[in-house]
Amino acid sequence: MVKIQGLRAIRDNYIWVIMDDVENSAYVVDPGEAAPVKDFLAKEKLDLKAILLTHQHWDHVTGIPELCDRFGCPVFGPKIERHPTVTHAVSEGDELRLWDRWPCKVIETPGHLPDHISWVLDLNAVLHVFCADTLFSAGCGRMFRGTPEEFLRSLKRLAALPDNSLLYPAHEYTLSNLQFARSVEPGNTQLSEEYQAVKDLRDQGKPSLPTTVAREKRINPFLRCQQPALIEAVARHAGRALPREEDVFAELRHWKDVF
Ligand code: ZN
Ligand code: FE
Repeated sequence: MVKIQGLRAIRDNYIWVIMDDVENSAYVVDPGEAAPVKDFLAKEKLDLKAILLTHQHWDHVTGIPELCDRFGCPVFGPKIERHPTVTHAVSEGDELRLWDRWPCKVIETPGHLPDHISWVLDLNAVLHVFCADTLFSAGCGRMFRGTPEEFLRSLKRLAALPDNSLLYPAHEYTLSNLQFARSVEPGNTQLSEEYQAVKDLRDQGKPSLPTTVAREKRINPFLRCQQPALIEAVARHAGRALPREEDVFAELRHWKDVF
């Protein structure tokens, strides 16, 4: 049976491991550190089949050379600005078959970086989406080298996936994102309830992830840039009218950067 497990790494990163206990092997997404992956694979007696990369920031790639040395596995990563560790460059629409069986497709999700991709794994018609630093629960990544237009488009592509799709961001930022979301929309009681629920989980040392498309559509302010209450709050904060959805997104992103 295929299972997905998050390994804590660096400070607040998750390295997602897709494992099959019948095949005794695994795929890992964005190993920013080698040690937690090696320890986990040794403990579970799993071989490493391949590494899937979403983008080339250090906290996603640093563990790759050591894991490749140890397991001799291929690295599938974005084509546009190819990272030196990538053995197989991929782009929009490319598809792997995990264990020659489960389709795992590339969608390009630029905005955080121009070459950020997400991996969409289809397990028995439920999508498991490794979206790294594009979408966080209740938030999104920083816009390092991207435009509001493309970032918004990437987020909308993720939001357009079926409601029950599971999203696996690369960072545990949910609580601080909800704090920001609440200050944007103080009257939104759903956000207060979510905040308390996530705080309880975190107090018990449990991850807040994965999340779902349905949940993000409710709580993620960056997916709600077309909603009147949010537009009004962001425009008030910016002190000017924000005629386009991209303007709302850009201001909201900027607001979060300095929050
Ligand atoms: Zn990043
Ligand atoms: Fe990151």
